[in-house]
Amino acid sequence: MKLELDSVSKRYGTATALDSVSLTVDDGEFFTLVGPSGCGKTTTLRCIAGFESPTEGTVRFDGESMDGVPPEARGVGVVFQNYALFPHMSVGENVAYGLRFVDPPGGVTRDERVEELLKLVDLAGFEDREPDSLSGGQQQRVALARALAPGPAILLLDEPMSALDARLRERLRQQVKRIQSELGVTTVYVTHDQSEALAVSDRVAVLNRGRVEQVGEPRDVYHRPRTEFVAEFVGENNVLHGVVESRLEAEGVEVDVDGHSFILDGVDKSAGESLTFCVRPENLRAGTETNQIRGTITGTEFQGATTRLGLDWKQTDVTVVVADDGDTTFEVGQELVVGFDPDAAHVVA
Ligand code: ATP
Repeated sequence: MKLELDSVSKRYGTATALDSVSLTVDDGEFFTLVGPSGCGKTTTLRCIAGFESPTEGTVRFDGESMDGVPPEARGVGVVFQNYALFPHMSVGENVAYGLRFVDPPGGVTRDERVEELLKLVDLAGFEDREPDSLSGGQQQRVALARALAPGPAILLLDEPMSALDARLRERLRQQVKRIQSELGVTTVYVTHDQSEALAVSDRVAVLNRGRVEQVGEPRDVYHRPRTEFVAEFVGENNVLHGVVESRLEAEGVEVDVDGHSFILDGVDKSAGESLTFCVRPENLRAGTETNQIRGTITGTEFQGATTRLGLDWKQTDVTVVVADDGDTTFEVGQELVVGFDPDAAHVVA
């Protein structure tokens, strides 16, 4: 099932939750809405599910307008952040609840369908258990089984892992991804966690203040952010503003940032033009001869394989991530020189 949002806006009084959002999700695609709290992810999902009506614009399923179509007639399965299982019903009854409006697909009985779904989410034999006796991850898999029971054409997942610990989250998202591709169900997944979005999606849409900033495949959005917001939100770029001083041979330019010159490759700008570019924390390296900056360490964070350093450079906060060799230590107040290759910078504007 193909899903389209055509210039969808949603206003609550004078507040704009969604501002002319247009998106197309292809049949069978795993599509993720990612962005900070309050950017409109849940509102988008609620408009697709039919729990909210857009103030303007249209939601279409396979080209057909959903205006006035109630949620239960849309053939959409939804899993929310809080498991929302019925505590007084068994696991099997909770899954069967997903079939209250429709007959099980494939001509099987209700019991057979429940069994099928529990097997799919790796909970075969859990029919008679009480939801309370399950772990958080298991409860979310029951919620997923319930949403999938009627064979929805579209699956909507609203931060389904956010209540789980990091390890479980990783495992569950791989399971969800596997089940989604096995069933080929068009899926819209909501998360504020950019690394989660990059890990599971065919494509992501980055939302900011009710607007779509960029849509693309994870690698594309990560390596080629189109706006400063996307550059900072996805993978924590260092964003710098400068002016092109001169063009060099080939595609190179010399750029002035606050009285400091950098050489950047692959820049399509002329002398005098301003530009905004970003450099990833892991591309700022000690020992790189080009584009050096000398800063003072303002914070260190040991992360296991890497250490994150905050650097104050000309009153700009710069983040550096260095591989941890187990010996080198970094102290707050220490001076550090790092540099980056001319082709490691990406121009956003
Ligand atoms: P989060 O990650 O925190 O869940 P979100 O990206 O899902 O955030 P939404 O819940 O879609 O964001 O909210 C978008 C904006 O619309 C917010 O500013 C929110 O306060 C506002 N909003 C959402 N629902 C309502 C409502 N029923 N009445 C008034 N304002 C609302």
